[in-house]
Amino acid sequence: MATVSMKQDPAVLAARLTRAAATAAAADLDALLISPGSDLRYLLGAGGESHERLTCLVLPAAGAAAPPALVVPKLEEPGFADLPLADLGVEVVTWVDGQDPHALVADLLRRGGAAPARLAVADVMPALHTIPLRSALPGAEQVLAAPVLRELRMRKDAAEIEALRKAGAAIDRVHARMAEFLKPGRTEAEVGADISAAIRAEGHVEAAFVIVGSGPNGASPHHALSDRVIERGDVVVVDIGGPIPEGYNSDCTRTYAVGEPAQSDVRDTYAVLQAAQRAAVQAVRPGATAESIDAAAREPIAAAGFGEYFVHRTGHGIGLDVHEEPYIVGGNQLVLEPGMAFSVEPGIYQPGRWGARIEDIVVVTEDGVESVNNRPHELVVLPA
Ligand code: ZN
Ligand code: ZN
Ligand code: ZN
Repeated sequence: MATVSMKQDPAVLAARLTRAAATAAAADLDALLISPGSDLRYLLGAGGESHERLTCLVLPAAGAAAPPALVVPKLEEPGFADLPLADLGVEVVTWVDGQDPHALVADLLRRGGAAPARLAVADVMPALHTIPLRSALPGAEQVLAAPVLRELRMRKDAAEIEALRKAGAAIDRVHARMAEFLKPGRTEAEVGADISAAIRAEGHVEAAFVIVGSGPNGASPHHALSDRVIERGDVVVVDIGGPIPEGYNSDCTRTYAVGEPAQSDVRDTYAVLQAAQRAAVQAVRPGATAESIDAAAREPIAAAGFGEYFVHRTGHGIGLDVHEEPYIVGGNQLVLEPGMAFSVEPGIYQPGRWGARIEDIVVVTEDGVESVNNRPHELVVLPA
């Protein structure tokens, strides 16, 4: 496991651990068990992914007697050496192959005295760890850690918002270069390879996703790439993004026409989409609900008769994960607060014909909204 740790201010991490422990106590949990993934990255600055050898932060709820501990396979301990664990009061507990790490976690949890009754496990912890942990702690109910972690991660601090701005500017630079890549006669895959290289060249660690949906493929919202040859007159949905070194992600969609669009309904339908996306962004402010933003995007599209062609929620939160809370979807009555960051990305998809989507990442400010993506929203007609 390559453990890429992030340079993080120990004071910031200490405050996050304290808040997580307090939120866990308020949720009637005994401890949080956080395996590698974005939650561990958020709490400790630790990179890496979960695999068959257990790495797990055991974070007792506020008021517990036991200190937090990071359970790590002995052979991977060097990968965590750069983290300020001593400053944070996190004890490192190593184990070697042949030992049972799940029993080790159970022992750590019983250090406070009573056996734990309720444990929250990271959403991304694999079943090959959650099930053995259940066997090691048969009296403990397991719940997801998401409700605790989302309370913290959903409200970004100034440094996180700055990282999202930097990611947004980087992906805007890639969209600004689209005429270099998107030309008739090239396949989506060829265009996508060039875009991937540009995503890295413009400051991302990797291209996490590259969607080039040309012609009828644009009507499939999560189409990735294919060998379809782009033709003059095609409408092309380009949805791209990835993480910058700080760990925060970009995600931005623009819709292009390769020469004047071949189909006569493109301009009018696109105008409906553009108005809907603008209305939804303008509805973002503290106090508005997540579902009201979804409705602001959906109503003008439905009024124009395209409601059935807008087949997904309006947006998703973004940060260390490309998709995270808050989700901008009907039924989500979450009240928006300053620091929340999410996409506003309505689309109109006409099966078998063409599709369009416009996506910006926005941040809720003290009195309104800031977009971290700032490329023009018009249908971009490229030379062909
Ligand atoms: Zn998506
Ligand atoms: Zn996207
Ligand atoms: Zn998105």
